[in-house]
Amino acid sequence: MNLFDTHFHLDLYPDPRAVVQEAERTQTYVVAVTNTPSVFQATQQLINSSRFVRPALGLHPELAVERHRELPLFQQLLAQTRYVGEVGLDFVSSDKQERLLQERVFAQILEWSHQAGSKILTIHSRRAEKEVVAAIGAEFKGTAILHWYSGSLAVVEQALANGLYFSINPAMTRSKRFADLLRLIPADRLLTETDGPFVQIGQRAAAPADVAQVVAALAASWQKTPTEVRQLLFTNLRRLLIEPG
Ligand SMILES: [Zn+2]
Repeated sequence: MNLFDTHFHLDLYPDPRAVVQEAERTQTYVVAVTNTPSVFQATQQLINSSRFVRPALGLHPELAVERHRELPLFQQLLAQTRYVGEVGLDFVSSDKQERLLQERVFAQILEWSHQAGSKILTIHSRRAEKEVVAAIGAEFKGTAILHWYSGSLAVVEQALANGLYFSINPAMTRSKRFADLLRLIPADRLLTETDGPFVQIGQRAAAPADVAQVVAALAASWQKTPTEVRQLLFTNLRRLLIEPG
């Protein structure tokens, strides 16, 4: 069963084409997120006719102030891909104006994605987990994946009630909260990611095939074989690709 990485920053690697070739060779499915609409088209070209790598259209919350004028471009490009990300909210900044602008940008992206239907979103929620889950709501027409979730367990419950998914990366499996998250999140709501190059494996930036580390950690904690975990996770991916959400 194929491995997959639902959150990977292809355009931030020194040799993205080599990463695409490696994904082809290892048959690892990759959602290549982008941080601004203006880099989406360049990323599309890098990916070219890959069978395994898909480009996602994004507008990173930490770039909302600088790049919110690219929203019309976002709207224009949305029909070209089923994948949206990296989008969301980041409340590390306590600046009120900035938070408001981030919320406006994210609400707009959610609205367009909802209208389009069946989009798959990979979402950043650092220090704004509650706000992100509330903004998505329970009626969203599409799939919302909370990437690198680091919020409270109470918000996890709300997210699950709203039908959201969680993508787990190798760094998360090394954190103290990993066991708590796994107790709460059912296996059929889990996906794998690396968030490379932000996640490091030793001294190097993570590659998509490093999701094998997440598979190994899940196998250890569920007392299953890695093959069984790969099958289970792939079933989740297939379900969200088939269902309109
Ligand atoms: Zn990211």
